[in-house]
Amino acid sequence: MIPSVLPTYNRAPLNFEKGEGAWLIEKDGRRFLDLGSGIAVNALGHAHPALVEALTDQAQKLWHVSNLYEIPQQQALADKLVETSFADTVFFTNSGTEACELAVKMARKYWFEKDQPERVDIITYSGSFHGRSSAGIAAAGSEKMVHGFGPILGGFVHLDWLDLEATKEAISDKTAAVLVEPVQGEGGIRPMPDADLKALRALCDEAGILLILDEVQCGVGRTGRLFAHEWAGITPDIMMVAKGIGGGFPLGAVLATEEAASGMTAGTHGSTYGGNPLGCAVGKAVLDIVSAPGFLDGVNARSGLLRQRLEGLVASYPDVFEGVRGAGLMLGLKCVKPAGDVVQAGYDAQVITVPAADNVVRLLPPLTLSDAEIHEAVDRLEQAAQSLQAD
Ligand SMILES: *Cc1c(COP(=O)(O)O)cnc(C)c1O
Repeated sequence: MIPSVLPTYNRAPLNFEKGEGAWLIEKDGRRFLDLGSGIAVNALGHAHPALVEALTDQAQKLWHVSNLYEIPQQQALADKLVETSFADTVFFTNSGTEACELAVKMARKYWFEKDQPERVDIITYSGSFHGRSSAGIAAAGSEKMVHGFGPILGGFVHLDWLDLEATKEAISDKTAAVLVEPVQGEGGIRPMPDADLKALRALCDEAGILLILDEVQCGVGRTGRLFAHEWAGITPDIMMVAKGIGGGFPLGAVLATEEAASGMTAGTHGSTYGGNPLGCAVGKAVLDIVSAPGFLDGVNARSGLLRQRLEGLVASYPDVFEGVRGAGLMLGLKCVKPAGDVVQAGYDAQVITVPAADNVVRLLPPLTLSDAEIHEAVDRLEQAAQSLQAD
């Protein structure tokens, strides 16, 4: 008999009842150190007082009002995003997938309004992840994601990850945009080297096409800059964020330049819940904290410490781990043992990690994790490694 919850997930038998900062407390009382953050969502940890206050204050006033009316919380968050990024304008969604949907529509509409309606193709890369909608799976294009869900939305050109030569050759008078994650998340914490991202920006500029960055996982302080592309000193035309921006409340956004957004006039797109007062009140509180002076310096310092300890761990357990990669507090442990086994051994040692493709274990801790918690986390990972090495 089919379970009452559609069985599309492989769930671990863990039942968390409460969260406190970087800790998750199981129903049975065990305390787990959370290096997953709900997959890069709880950017400020669990039950951060400023977020609890933002949410409860707003909850007592107004939960929902249609986008038929002004939403001042939305305005305030959009202003802050525009102030702190390349963007001139923002559309709010409830998830990363919906943000990807709009990015695709926006790029195509841009060219339609430029009297080049034949420019619909979007170049994407192997190992990418852009959500589970029809456009999202078509954009990623992997057999695993599209299998059985045909007909697959057309207009995506799939190239090998980081193949800039192929990108140059693939750009044609049918190309609307290039879509890429500056650091692949689901694909196994694969950062795009700064030089490649710069070169890709230059290719797009030469061809006059749009560069769309999917920062749903790597944005909002995760890599040690507010947005990951800042490391390369470039800016996109369109960018998606979600996950961390809501700190645990479902919230996403598409940020764009005035030019890239020029086709999106009144009536061309919308959402019932997108930009609702609760989500935007929380998002503003998250962004205020992450963009405050010094916060990202702290993230980079903690990243340095965590990375240094992980390098030591990898060196001590060469039968379990192969290397560390990533940026900021978006790190991946490339494994020798199956990544799933490492995650499981972590559960036994009461430390939460997240598996990814390419046999990588992801570490996406709250950006607010303390130095003591970093040491505790690596000690627990070491315990997990020990149990595996003995096998
Ligand atoms: C998680 C993710 C998405 C999809 O976001 P949802 O909120 O799950 O819809 C899209 N792109 C990237 C890079 C992601 O990591």
